[in-house]
Formats: sequence, C-alpha cells, structure tokens
Amino acid sequence: MPDSNFAERSEEQMSGAQVIAQALKTQDVEYIFGIVGIPVTEIAIAAQQLGIKYIGMRNEQAACYAASAIGYLTGRPGVCLVVSGPGLIHALGGMANANVNCWPLLLIGGSSERNQETMGAFQEFPQVEACRLYTKFSARPSSIEAIPFVIEKAVRTSIYGRPGACYVDIPADFVNLQVNVNSIKYMECCMSPPVSMAETSAVRMAASVIRNAKQPLLIIGKGAAYAHAEENIKKLVEQYKLPFLPTPMGKGVVPDNHPNCVGAARSRALQFADVIVLFGARLNWILHFGLPPRYQPDVKFIQVDICAEELGNNVKPAVTLLGDISAVSKQLLEELDKTAWEYPPESKWWKTLREKMKSNEAASKELASKKSLPMNYYTVFYHVQEQLPRDCFVVSEGANTMDIGRTVLQNYLPRHRLDAGTFGTMGVGLGFAIAAAMVAKDRSPGQRVICVEGDSAFGFSGMEVETICRYNLPIILLVVNNNGIYQGFDMNTWKETSKFRDPTAVVPPMCLLPNSHYEQIMTAFGGKGYFVETPEELQKSLRQSLADTTKPSLINIMIEPQATRKAQDFHWLTRSNM
Ligand code: ADP
Ligand code: MG
Repeated sequence: MPDSNFAERSEEQMSGAQVIAQALKTQDVEYIFGIVGIPVTEIAIAAQQLGIKYIGMRNEQAACYAASAIGYLTGRPGVCLVVSGPGLIHALGGMANANVNCWPLLLIGGSSERNQETMGAFQEFPQVEACRLYTKFSARPSSIEAIPFVIEKAVRTSIYGRPGACYVDIPADFVNLQVNVNSIKYMECCMSPPVSMAETSAVRMAASVIRNAKQPLLIIGKGAAYAHAEENIKKLVEQYKLPFLPTPMGKGVVPDNHPNCVGAARSRALQFADVIVLFGARLNWILHFGLPPRYQPDVKFIQVDICAEELGNNVKPAVTLLGDISAVSKQLLEELDKTAWEYPPESKWWKTLREKMKSNEAASKELASKKSLPMNYYTVFYHVQEQLPRDCFVVSEGANTMDIGRTVLQNYLPRHRLDAGTFGTMGVGLGFAIAAAMVAKDRSPGQRVICVEGDSAFGFSGMEVETICRYNLPIILLVVNNNGIYQGFDMNTWKETSKFRDPTAVVPPMCLLPNSHYEQIMTAFGGKGYFVETPEELQKSLRQSLADTTKPSLINIMIEPQATRKAQDFHWLTRSNM
C-alpha cells in the first residue's frame, strides 16, 4: 500500500521505477533476481528501498532459474528483472523452463523507449511478442497508471490454474517519468488461488477403482509437492497400505525411506500396476507416456490435476479428478474412509515389489562398495548420502550425476529437491541453489543446500559462484567430475589425442579438459575449495564443509572418466587427415 502520508501531499511526485517497486511490494513479492543496466537499475534500487530483496546475478538465464525456483518453493512468484533486448533474450531459457515445469514466475523486462519504436532504438526487440510463446501472459502496461493493474494480473495469472510464467514489459521512458502519487491506484494483493475440488461422483468412482485394484500404485509428482498435499497423501499411503512412487521432484512428499516407497522397483511398479493414481504428474517422457511396453495395455489411470487440458493426455484415463491435489486427496480419503478397507500388505504385488527393491538395492550397494580408484558414481553418492543432513535441499543436474544421484540421495521433506525437471534443462543448478539458500535463510536458518553437479552442467552457470560468495550463502557445491559430458578422457588419453595438430577434428565432442580444478573457481572468490580423489578425502571435505556454516564450498570430486579406450579406437579419429 502506498505511504498514507502521500495522499495528503498532493504535489508529491514519484518515478515510474517507484511505482513498479510499490506494485511488486503490494503483491507480496519478496525476491528479485536480475542484472541491472539501462533501463532497469532504478527499479532494482526502488525495490530495495521498499524492503524487497534484490539478488544480482551474473547471467539473466541463471537469474531467471533462481526466480522460478522461488515460485516453486514458496507458491508466490519470484521476480526476474532484466534489461532490454539481449538481457530479455537470455532470460527466455528460464521462462521456458518455468513454464514447462508449471512453476510461477514473473519476468520484468526493460525495453526501448516508446517514441523510438521501429527506429532501431538501443536494444530494441519485440519483447512482448517474443515472450508469448514462453508464458501464460505477456503484456506491456499502456501507461504508468496501468502498471499496478498489469502486475497484479501477471502475479495472479502465474499462480492461478496451472502455474506458469508471466511477462511484463516496461518501456525505458516509464522508469524515470515523474507522476503525481495520487494518480496511482494500487491493486490489492492477489489472494492465494481459490481451491477447486473434484466432482463427488468422480471421487466415488475413483475410490471404487482403487478398492478393486489388484496391483495399485500411487505416483506422486511435483504438482503434489507444489500443492502442499503431503499430509493427505501420506495418510492415503499409510491408512490404505498403498505402494507409492515419487517422480524426481515428487521425492520427499512422502519421505524416500518410507516402507511403502517403491522407488527402488520403479520399472517393475510401472510395468505391472493395474491401477495408477497420478497426483500431479504428467504422462510425458519422464513417465514413458503411460504406454506399453512400460505399462500394462489395460492399466487404469486415475488422473488428479488442476489443469483440465492435461486430463486424457496420451492415455484414456479411467477416472479424472479435476482439482487441487491437496483438496482432492482429502476427498479421496473421506470417500475411502466410508468403508473399512486396506490394500492387503501380504499381497503378491507387495511381495514382488519388495523382492525387486531388495535386489536393486543390493546391486547399487555392491557398486558403491567398489574400492578401486578413481571412484564410481555409486561410491561417491553413498558417501554423500551418509553425511547428508535430513532437512537439506538437494539441487542436482547433469546426466549420470543426476540420474544415479537421484536413486541414492534421499529426500525426507517435500519441495526439497530441485533438478533439471520436465524440460531437462542444464545450467539450472546454481540459480536453484541460490534461491533455495535464500528461502532457507529467511524461513529456516541453518538449513543447508547441497548442489550436486556434473562437471559439464556446472559449466553452464559456473560464474554464479561469485554470486554465492558475494551474498555469503553457505551452499555446498559438489562437482562430480568425469572430464566430460556423459564421459571424458583420462589425462594420458587426452594428451595422446590433443597432440594432433587440429584438436577440433579429433577431440570427441563430449570431452572436457581432464582434471580441471573447478574448486579454484570457489577459492577465487573467498569460498573453500577441495579437490578429492578418494573416499577418505571426500568424507573429510564434506564433513568440513558441513561444519562450516559461514562459507560456501566446492568439492571437486574426480571419478572414473569411463574412457578406457585409447584415442585411436575412436572411428572419427581415423577419418581425420592429420
Ligand atoms: P512431474 O515432473 O513430477 O511428473 P509434472 O510437472 O509432469 O510433474 O506435473 C505436475 C502437474 O501438477 C501438472 O500437470 C500441473 O498442472 C499439476 N498441478 C500443479 N499444481 C497443482 C495443484 N495445486 N493441484 C493439482 N495439480 C496441480
Ligand atoms: Mg561429466
């Protein structure tokens, strides 16, 4: 709300930047991530003056990833503030990632002055149009007076219905224009989304399908995490003894170590379930589209989602429950409660799942216990898991680093895992970690953020280490380093390969420079860096990093680059005419 003193002093002026900041403040925006420059610097300063936290990042892409993670973690959009043209374009990646993940986000972009439009103005670009493809809502206020209205609409659109990204365009000439404070009317803070419930007849039908299931399975997606449905879903699992499988970011809605979690028998559970309840998880590539051969051809899906258009995608569901997952899971609980029933814990289905889990867990333990050096992924994650605080945020990206890490690293709390997500985006890790660290600092001080990065993934946003050090966020970055994308070369093979006159013709596209000292990026800015090659060194550095709550650290963990083959074995080398 505007300062009440303003109303009395009618000659009082304020700038467009202050109007924008006040409109954001009125909508309860807590965090802005961005990079300042013409014409948005004044907006960032005005926001800080109102107590909005401004976090300056090193690339708009990372800033936008950070803002989107705020949306997922808090249910209110984080703001990303960028300059015109290239600044905005760098942020498109973050916007697309937020929108594809169904996370709220508000991007505010400066743009060139209105009276220079089509004249080749500095950084001129059709920004509103460019953002349309990546957003639910993309608009430019028609005047300074319209800014609060458009910002409220953008915030509301980002969180109502299926959450997503929104864009508001601010022409440069708005920013410093002075207006009379009385000419601006602020919209009230937009309320949390109204809660929608499923049709009672559909709930009844769903309960009956669940009761008659021979091999039931609940799939818990990040929509359930976002909906804060943990309490009701845990009750469903426990009261009716149902097996559940979390999706990557659905991990932690019910703790991974819950006896009913069948994550370790994922393929088996998907393949043989006859009834699957989807709580906020789309049947996209992550869930193999819900189709055979990964599923039974006649599996009955019960789909719970807030987005009507999602219902029926790729399969014909047996029952659709349109509504908020938290409310709908409560409806299901109440309906199932009407008749005494539980899924028999001694069923053949439970037995099959348990057997498969046991053998898969034994296989991964066996790999983790390998003493040979360099370490493998399992050994690394086994030691990390041993020391991982139960309440920490786990951020992760990479190929094997993320995929194998997900199976070993446990989540015990909802909304505590952030990864490459539905869009499979690399480069999100550091932005996500910074956002999680901000949320931890403000809401549960002491809570740690562990960011597990592949060496290639780390490279996309590596300079954000400076951001981490500047704000002194005690994030622990683990770079699981195999000298490449998917795989790389060991030093000897590398030397053999790169001695060719033109390395661009012979160095395999997935290779990165072996034994790179990524930890020095952290020490360059005053954080702690560790280069580790053995389990003992890993344990020690992790212990020290966790003990130090005042400083960020980066542990560069050398693992088997999996390139046992010699350079000349690669067929493309023989094609070169060195
Ligand atoms: P995952 O990657 O975990 O499988 P997805 O991103 O594919 O999850 O799916 C999340 C789904 O959750 C989306 O279809 C989205 O519409 C839905 N969703 C988001 N918030 C809610 C909510 N409050 N209630 C119900 N569904 C929701
Ligand atoms: Mg790698």
